Amino acid sequence: MAYTTILFDLDHTLLDSQASEARAFNATLREAGIDNPQEHFSEYTRINRSLWAAVERGEIAPNDLRVTRWERLVSKHELDADAQILAQRYVRGLGEEGDLYPGTVAVLDELSTRAALALVTNGLAEVQRRRIARLGLERYFDPIVISGEVGVSKPAVEIFELAFRALGRPAKTRTLMVGDSLTSDIQGGINFGIDTCWYNPRSATSTGPRSTHEIADLSELVEVVSNGDHG
Ligand SMILES: [Mg+2]
Repeated sequence: MAYTTILFDLDHTLLDSQASEARAFNATLREAGIDNPQEHFSEYTRINRSLWAAVERGEIAPNDLRVTRWERLVSKHELDADAQILAQRYVRGLGEEGDLYPGTVAVLDELSTRAALALVTNGLAEVQRRRIARLGLERYFDPIVISGEVGVSKPAVEIFELAFRALGRPAKTRTLMVGDSLTSDIQGGINFGIDTCWYNPRSATSTGPRSTHEIADLSELVEVVSNGDHG
């Protein structure tokens, strides 16, 4: 049976978050008078990843990392800059920068005729709301659940429960979670007891949880959804 409800991740699944982050990072540091932003980006990325991993483990709230990631970078690289100001500018830049991956709109147009679509994202409210409005994503997704707003993050079942309640409690057997992250999206779907589809564009090898389906291109999702759990 086909899937009739699809929960989507946003970052690195629909949205080119890598480009969004790189552009916002460069602009933020340049604005602060630091003219070699590239020299700091890999350390920032390391810090940011480890903080989001702590969010996934429920150790910190999403809003806690907003300034902390900048405090750590400023301290580690001895930057002459104010972490609060960097954090504010970066969050604004993240909201303003970045596009959907090519072909995403066509896939969403097609899927929205076949299934109810919801967005379940670990992120900061001010970043995600600005992106969602700018990219016109409200017309595809209802509900839109942002961890920074609801206070719980993937892979915890609570955030899936919130989405499910807003969807009117559809059949779990006909619901699919789609995302690029094994630790938040796939593990979260497994925790909640629904099928999962791992968006794995670089054909990485999974060392963690096993997804029900795996795709390398979002366009493959239309067939996965039509075939359902027998795909
Ligand atoms: Mg993601």
